[in-house]
Parts: sequence; structure tokens; C-alpha cells
Amino acid sequence: MAEVESFNLDHTKVRAPYVRRAGTHITPKGDVIAKFDLRLAQPNHGSLETGAVHTLEHLLASGLRDHLDGVIDLSPMGCRTGFYLVHDGEIAENMIQKALEQTLAKVLETTYIPGVSALECGNYQDHDLEQAKHWAKTALEAGFIVQETVQIPVGSSSQ
Ligand SMILES: [Zn+2]
Repeated sequence: MAEVESFNLDHTKVRAPYVRRAGTHITPKGDVIAKFDLRLAQPNHGSLETGAVHTLEHLLASGLRDHLDGVIDLSPMGCRTGFYLVHDGEIAENMIQKALEQTLAKVLETTYIPGVSALECGNYQDHDLEQAKHWAKTALEAGFIVQETVQIPVGSSSQ
């Protein structure tokens, strides 16, 4: 089986909300691509409703680009506890944290979700701005940290 970074993360030893470096990739030409785990909900203690995670995806995809140069991708995790951010170039976790906090603060004020139409979105009726604001507020109030990666010891995962 191929190695998947997140399958080696001990999800019981993290404290959300957090920003974690999930990987740093150096291309054959020497360019750096950095990947981050932006976690809003504590793993296995709840998850964002599909409408909330979808609306936050739209708002973060747009809003993080206002605060950060080099955003390649922002995508929700299938477990609906957070998002992955892929960034063109090396950047420190605390810079990502600051941009995320600024973007979530703007989410609290917004009345507009970008890209919500049958033309622009693959499930445009599944949005929930109020729930998105609830999760943004809850995370900001709890306070983001920079989370170190805690690996599952070799041999102790289920498969
Ligand atoms: Zn969409």
C-alpha cells in the first residue's frame, strides 16, 4: 500500500482548532510545495455539517487567496473536520494561521458565498452560511494553535 501522510497521524493526540504542516514537497526542478492541515473540529468528536463544510470551502478558497499569495488548492477533508491547503513555496505555519484567522473573521461578517449557482458549483443547494459562521466563531473563540505532527508508532495502526 502506498504511504498516505494523514494515515500516519495520530488523530487522538491533536488539539483542534489548529494549523499543521502535512508535508513539504520538493519538485525535480527544486520548487517547494507546502501542504497544511487546517483543522476546525476535534477529530472523532464531531464534524462539520455538509452544508457548513461546503460553504466554508467556498469562503476559504476565495478568502485565503486575499490574504496569501501562492495558494494552489484548498479542499475539504472527507471526514469533514477540516481542510487541506496546498501552497506554492515555503511558508511558515504561523503565517497560514494568521491568514486563516483573518479569513474566518471575515466569514463572520459576510452575507455572500462566492460561486453558488448551478453554473459554478457541483451541489449549489447544499450550502449553510449560518452553520459555517458557527464553526468559524467556535474555532476563533477556541483559538488556533500550530500543531506538531504526532505519528502513530510503527506497527500499532489497525492495518
Ligand atoms: Zn461548491
